Amino acid sequence: MEDTELDVQPVIARREVTNRILKAFHLRADKNLGQNFLVEESVVSRIAAAAELTPQDKVLEIGPGIGTLTQALARTGAQVTCVELDKRLLPVLAETVGSYENVRIVQGDILKTDIPALMGGGPFKVAANLPYYITTPIIMSLLERRLPLERLVVMVQKEVAERMTALPGGRDYGAISVAMQYYTEPRTAFLVKAGSFLPPPKVDSAVLVCRRRPDPPVAVPDEKTFFRIVAAAFSVRRKMLTNSLRHMGGLSGDEVRAWLAAAGIDGTRRAETLSLEEFAALARAYAVR
Ligand code: SAM
Repeated sequence: MEDTELDVQPVIARREVTNRILKAFHLRADKNLGQNFLVEESVVSRIAAAAELTPQDKVLEIGPGIGTLTQALARTGAQVTCVELDKRLLPVLAETVGSYENVRIVQGDILKTDIPALMGGGPFKVAANLPYYITTPIIMSLLERRLPLERLVVMVQKEVAERMTALPGGRDYGAISVAMQYYTEPRTAFLVKAGSFLPPPKVDSAVLVCRRRPDPPVAVPDEKTFFRIVAAAFSVRRKMLTNSLRHMGGLSGDEVRAWLAAAGIDGTRRAETLSLEEFAALARAYAVR
């Protein structure tokens, strides 16, 4: 390891400590990798608390950075596995959290990581201050893969949290709201100001807590078709369903109208007014049309 005069304070989530670590390792946050390090101790503690970790738990941290949240997760006694893309941060993490026996650091891209192989067979939780440039792909790939994921506690851009938790009827409600609420019970735990990060991002943030549903909340014959219908309905969100659902492809106007009638849904409505149950009714009627 590089010979630095690094004197790591007990808590990394402090502005002066983070600055000192970055300076000691001659590092600058890489904006292209979404590097905004938390420097607010209370925020880090609240994320770790929201994950509800016990020493029996396994937790996956995506993007540990310099170990800020990792340290708080490690202190719960849970088995912490971290996946960090930026190779420059490995020697930093060795210094800042290397002494915790319950922390394992893996270098790699989370989107290309074989998570079941990494986390073993049993249930696990996810806690992360996510890199914002790939928030949705990360969350959706975790959920769609049907991993034994119990709980997801993630820092995301405030607007993303609003979309993921939005209910029918509003501007924020879209395909991502339906997907999140199909797989989980998402709620915004608290908001975080840009000044809590170093460097501060250009947006405000929110911590989203999602309890994984043991079973989907609505019955659909085939999930893939269900999500194709949701995507088609929202593809032209200002249009009536009679028009937007033609984006399913291969259906005439009459066929779409018959399908909507069979599902008991008024074709003059727009996608943003449909509940999960109504999308499921559409999927069921589509399967038997
Ligand atoms: N956890 C730290 C904190 O709270 O201060 C850092 C969070 S920072 C917002 C996001 C982290 O994700 C960075 O360390 C970045 O290098 C890492 N990252 C970016 N893309 C990644 C990817 N594809 N796979 C894994 N980590 C990634």
